Amino acid sequence: MFKAFLIKYAEIGLKGNNRYIFENALRDRIAGVLKPLGTYNVYKEQGRVFVECPESYDYEETVEALQRVFGISSICPVAVIDNSDWESLTEGVGDYMDAMYPNKDITFKVMAKRADKNYLLTSPEICKEMGAYLLKRFPGLRVDVHEPEVRITVEVRSKSYVYSIIIPGPGGMPVGTNGKAMLLLSGGIDSPVAGYMISKRGVSMAAVYFHAPPYTSERAKQKVVDLAKAISKYTGRMKLFVVNFTDIQLDIYEKCPHDELTIIMRRYMMRIAERLAEEENCLGLVTGESIGQVASQTMHSLASTNEVCSMPVYRPLVAFDKNDIVDIAKKIDTYETSILPYEDCCTIFVAKHPVTKPNLKRIRNSEKRLEEGIDEMVDTAIENAEIIIID
Ligand code: ATP
Ligand code: MG
Repeated sequence: MFKAFLIKYAEIGLKGNNRYIFENALRDRIAGVLKPLGTYNVYKEQGRVFVECPESYDYEETVEALQRVFGISSICPVAVIDNSDWESLTEGVGDYMDAMYPNKDITFKVMAKRADKNYLLTSPEICKEMGAYLLKRFPGLRVDVHEPEVRITVEVRSKSYVYSIIIPGPGGMPVGTNGKAMLLLSGGIDSPVAGYMISKRGVSMAAVYFHAPPYTSERAKQKVVDLAKAISKYTGRMKLFVVNFTDIQLDIYEKCPHDELTIIMRRYMMRIAERLAEEENCLGLVTGESIGQVASQTMHSLASTNEVCSMPVYRPLVAFDKNDIVDIAKKIDTYETSILPYEDCCTIFVAKHPVTKPNLKRIRNSEKRLEEGIDEMVDTAIENAEIIIID
């Protein structure tokens, strides 16, 4: 029945002269997600992107893939009418109606758009004449222009397209149209959601994970790789840096007050993430922090981890309750992986009573105890970072 999809996009439409950049990015991203599924023809035409499907394809699978492409506001499975002369058009729309709605005891309304302004009828005329044709062909039908059960839309272009199903897309903007950011990706619930949200605004992602073997296991690392794979279904290809943090962590553990461990550790994570971000031409860092969620995320703690980097740090979850974050995690399919019970490197070195209002001066002072050797450890950690390409 459906040989093609008509893709509508929203915010891209606002972009004035840069519009083609957004449209091309959207087209390329759609082509990218569909490529593994078959030979689709993806092209843009006057404010729309069209997807022509191969002879045999999986409808559900295709729709699911499209629902992960940021920038799409809706996905309309369409029947294509090759010849747009009036007779072919009415007949084609009638056949569509017949196939889609075997029971004709329904109310309907025809909506029309014509890209071809030279078409022999205007849009209102198309609606009126098409309605009359359908009523005549299927006597059970009734017109209801206010609240019809079925809205049949006909778009007349070089070919014509008819649809009555509108599937919501994810919204947002095409990935890659808004620069790149470095996501601090842990194995938890929050950071994958944070990456998803920033990416939804058109930002492509790189990610960094800090692990501390042997205190954290290979399974914990694999969990992060799996999370990166899960979000890359939305963000596209992603470079994941796995940084060995053990020596740094042990050094902090040895020399600094234990109630400040988490904060100081987080400050070193931010510093390293920023260095990697610079190397990768990223314009910001992204974390899954949310005010007050844990001791290291009070306003005081955030101020203290924030001061070590000069790059903007984006915290899309900053005002979210955990429940709301969990809802998104479930929606994007990261939740089940996130709750697997593998230790993360923060839980092993946490103090029983971490400071909740770290004093910046004290923290800076404590860090002075690390002076001998820490810079070299940081350099080594960065140089030896393992790079995993998530595709
Ligand atoms: P998450 O659910 O994302 O793990 P969390 O509630 O466990 O967050 P924290 O452990 O305080 O919170 O971490 C706060 C943020 O710091 C995380 O959202 C993540 O962006 C970053 N982060 C924490 N641990 C790591 C790690 N091992 N590797 C990379 N980033 C990390
Ligand atoms: Mg965590």
